[in-house]
Order: sequence, then structure tokens, then C-alpha cells
Amino acid sequence: MDKCSFCGRKKNEVDILIAGIDGHICERCVEQAHEIIEEEFKSKGSFDINSIKLHKPAQIKEFLDKYVIGQDHAKKILSVAVYNHYKRLGQKVDDDETEIEKSNIILVGPTGTGKTLLARTIAKMLHVPFTIVDATVLTEAGYVGEDIESLLTRLLQSADYNVEAAERGIVFIDEIDKIARKGDNPSITRDVSGEGVQQGLLKLLEGAVVNVPPQGGRKHPEQKMIPVDTKNILFVCGGAFDGIERKIAQRMNTKVVGFNAVEKTASIDRENLMQYIAPMDLKSFGLIPEIIGRLPVLTYLDPLDPGALRRILTEPKNAIIKQYTKLFGMDHIALTFTDEALDYVVGIAVEYKLGARGLRSICETIMVDAMFDLPTNGKKEFTVTEDYARDKVERAGMKLLKAS
Ligand code: ADP
Repeated sequence: MDKCSFCGRKKNEVDILIAGIDGHICERCVEQAHEIIEEEFKSKGSFDINSIKLHKPAQIKEFLDKYVIGQDHAKKILSVAVYNHYKRLGQKVDDDETEIEKSNIILVGPTGTGKTLLARTIAKMLHVPFTIVDATVLTEAGYVGEDIESLLTRLLQSADYNVEAAERGIVFIDEIDKIARKGDNPSITRDVSGEGVQQGLLKLLEGAVVNVPPQGGRKHPEQKMIPVDTKNILFVCGGAFDGIERKIAQRMNTKVVGFNAVEKTASIDRENLMQYIAPMDLKSFGLIPEIIGRLPVLTYLDPLDPGALRRILTEPKNAIIKQYTKLFGMDHIALTFTDEALDYVVGIAVEYKLGARGLRSICETIMVDAMFDLPTNGKKEFTVTEDYARDKVERAGMKLLKAS
């Protein structure tokens, strides 16, 4: 008689006996195995805080690696910060217990190096509402521009007005450097775009219940405000902070004046000063100390070299070249790019200083004719060579230059 190969019970002793190639398993053993698997997963790492599946920092970084090339330092800092942030959401605070404080993040690095991409990828992984706002459009209440609360309107919209979900979301504030105070002296007159906005942001960053106009703006004065608590919203700020290297250099030069100055100066990598960025440099740049205090996690992004640009073309999960291959595949056309063609694309991006953002427009320029003709001309294969790419780029030369 058939019996369970795991527990040995005979067919007449169990309700269900499932046959495999070389044995059987009963329903009890299936259930037990399921429990073991669940236990194992729990102890290995992922756990749920209010439906957010939280991964360990190494797993977060691994996920980021699939979408973002390089920027290892920023990825590591970000992974830890995000892990701690969502762990904090699960904390139970008793009176005498340590309370984990919120750690908003500030990313400093040249434009187009992946700051927004990093924040967006994290939100994608966590399945939390995410929104991007440009700090330059924010103004103090009463001035022309958007009220600071409008960034929460956007978050609410991206959460389909689910307040609870929005309260656990991520807001990316771009171009935070553009609201820096001009000059080191606090101005006596009101500074519409700078310090006032920083003051307004403070409240949001540290956590407060804010009344948010659901439609945003001031066009609907009759709308009913929705209270949103920002305590658990993770704010990620990004900015290029052009010229901050000078502030870093100044600080480091003053610091190294001393008895062992020579030794210290020798170990400074002057080519890449950004790696030494510290909160006080942000202050010299014009962020107010209170804002800096609310952005305790500070990290930098590296400029993208040609090698990184080349990898961005083909390696990320949704790399541009992979997207074209897929598009052509849908028409049953096998598309390939020669290595030389890809190097040529990178060369153009470097030559015109278009950065990673320019890669797409260059590829688009090269591919548009093929995308127009191939679906109807019956070809089943197409190879983009360097000559082909150069021909298309040179023809469109003027347009490309304008894009920059
Ligand atoms: P910023 O640093 O100005 O926020 P983004 O993250 O918006 O730059 O980058 C612009 C685009 O360039 C991204 O959408 C992405 O396609 C590409 N990109 C930039 N940096 C990287 C990177 N490190 N890895 C992969 N793609 C990148």
C-alpha cells in the first residue's frame, strides 16, 4: 500500500496522499513543511511592519544594484538609513525606553548621477507612495508659487488619498541647494525663496500634523483640509551644491593647520573632495543649521565617468538598450548594438556633457528611423553599428546640441 515517504503513514491513515515521481507526501507533512519554510523566512530577514516588507540593508543594496550603477557609498548609507527608518516605524515606545529618532537623508552630487533614481528605486522596492518635488517651486505662504504643504498633496495623490499609506511614504525634495541662503549672513529682509522656505520645511521634516489641501494650490479655497502626520514620512533631499568643494577645501585647509599638518594634507584626495563632505559644509553653503539637523544622514554621489555611462546603457534592469531590444522584439525583430556603437553613444554624451540623462536622447536620435521603417519593411534582424549611429547623430547634430 502507498504511504507517505516523510512520516510513513499509510494511505488509509491520511486524508490526502499526493504522489510524486518517486514517493508520496501526506497533507500533514505538507503543512508542517510549510510552517518550517515560514519560520525559516522569518528568521532569515524579511519582516512586515504594517504591510511594508522590510529587507536587511544588504538586500536593499542588492536591489539598488539592479537599477543604479556605481554610487556604492551612497547606496550603503541609504540602505542602512531606510532599514532603520522602517524599523523605527515598528518600534513600541514605553515611557522609559529609548526612542529611535527619524533620520531624513540628504544626497549631494552632480545633477544626473542618480539621486532621484536612488530614492525612486527604494520606494519601488518598498511599495510605498513616492513623490518628487522641486524645492525651487516652493515659497512661503502668501507668495507666488506653491505652498510648502503642496508637497504633501502630491504624496496623497500618489497614495490615491489613502492617508495612512501616505504617512509612511517617501518624499524626494530635489534641488534643495537652490533654497540655500545667499551669502553667509542671515538677511534682515525677508528672503522669499530661501530661508523662509527652509523654515517652512523644518516643521515637515521633524514631524508634525499638517493640514493638506487635497487638490493642492490656492485655487480651491473651499476644499476640506486633510490632516497628515509627517512623523513617519521619509524625506530624501537632493542637490548638486555646485561649488561646495570650495567650502570643503576651505574647511579642510583650516583644520589641517597645526603640528601634524603636513602628514594630514598628504592623505587628502584633492581630486574628489566631495567624499569629505560634512554637515558644516552645508551650513557654509547656506542651509540653516536647523534644517541640517533634521537631515542627519548625509552622503555624496560620484560624477559618472565614461565607464559608468557605458554600463548604464546596458546593465540596469530597465537599461535603455534592453528597452529598445524589447520594443523591436515585439515586432519579432532581433536588434543588436555593436560594442563600438555603444562606445560611440557614450563618447557623444561625454563630448556634449549630456551625462546619463543625455544617453536616452542620443539613442532616440539614432533609433527613430529604424523604429519607423522596420515594422513595415519585413526585416527580421537589425544591427546598429558605429557608422550607422554616427550617420544618424551627425544628421541630427544641431538638434542634439540644442538639447544640451
Ligand atoms: P539626479 O542625480 O539629478 O537626481 P537622476 O537620478 O534623475 O539624476 O538621473 C537621471 C537619469 O539618468 C535617470 O533616470 C537614469 O536613467 C540615469 N542615471 C543617472 N545616474 C544613474 C546611475 N548611477 N545608474 C543608472 N542610471 C543612472
